[in-house]
Amino acid sequence: MKIIKCRDLGFNCDFMATGAASESDDVKQKMMDHITEKHLSEKDMSKEDLEEIASRIDIVLSRGCGCGAL
Ligand SMILES: [Zn+2]
Repeated sequence: MKIIKCRDLGFNCDFMATGAASESDDVKQKMMDHITEKHLSEKDMSKEDLEEIASRIDIVLSRGCGCGAL
């Protein structure tokens, strides 16, 4: 199980994307869709900002949730 929270990426937002461990690309895509939809205009983010967020998503997803349940 992969979980990524919008809060992990520095947003004050309770959205989270979840999915099977084998579908981390899917989880990443869900999170990127959410950010593009909800936060892009609000934060006036550049393409570079989005790329940084994408790489942070990769890091969070690769380390797991840290809750010990995996
Ligand atoms: Zn959000």
